[in-house]
Amino acid sequence: MVGSVKVLSFDLEGTLVNHVFSDLVWNEGIPKLYAEKMGISFEEAKNFVLTEYAKVGDGKIEWYDIKYWFNRFGLKNYKKLFENYSDKVFYYPEVEEVLDSLKKDYMLVLATNSGREFLEFLTEKVRKYFDKTFSATSDFKCLKKDSFFYQKICDILNVKPELMAHVGDRLEDDVISPRRIGVKAFYLDRSGKTSNSFTVKNLKEFEFKIKSLD
Ligand SMILES: [Mg+2]
Repeated sequence: MVGSVKVLSFDLEGTLVNHVFSDLVWNEGIPKLYAEKMGISFEEAKNFVLTEYAKVGDGKIEWYDIKYWFNRFGLKNYKKLFENYSDKVFYYPEVEEVLDSLKKDYMLVLATNSGREFLEFLTEKVRKYFDKTFSATSDFKCLKKDSFFYQKICDILNVKPELMAHVGDRLEDDVISPRRIGVKAFYLDRSGKTSNSFTVKNLKEFEFKIKSLD
């Protein structure tokens, strides 16, 4: 291992994969199944389902839990739904190359709010690069905006927060929360609009910043 940082942590959606798969599952697949089950139109079903999501809200653990929603709507077999959209999992272009390169010098982990079912499905092709994966909502019943999540990861890995770096596309979840306990966190803004010392526009740039910490 080289340098001052030993563990690199990556967010999942918006960082390794785009949101296409998730958006289709939540906003098309589930409403379609619900429409079929209830014998109502897709539009009606979508309206209902989205209203139900909003009632719970993304501040609650259940919001991220596909099993909870299948149960609540009386649906069956989320795995089949995932399979229907399996050609809609899109990694950002630099992902494999960067992970492959960083893997040689660092321990790589994945840290997401997504439920474990999404985590497993979305990481199939890059799973080999990661020593460990963590779902805040499934594994610890918390959210990333709570620094407890990052503390828990450091405890499990037995690494000081200062020796870990994290990258992700949400300021509160991926930058403010980990920085609160001393993790070297970087903000991924793929639009390239933000410019400061802790912002990167892709993972190539993250790799460069990490290597320049040494
Ligand atoms: Mg994200």
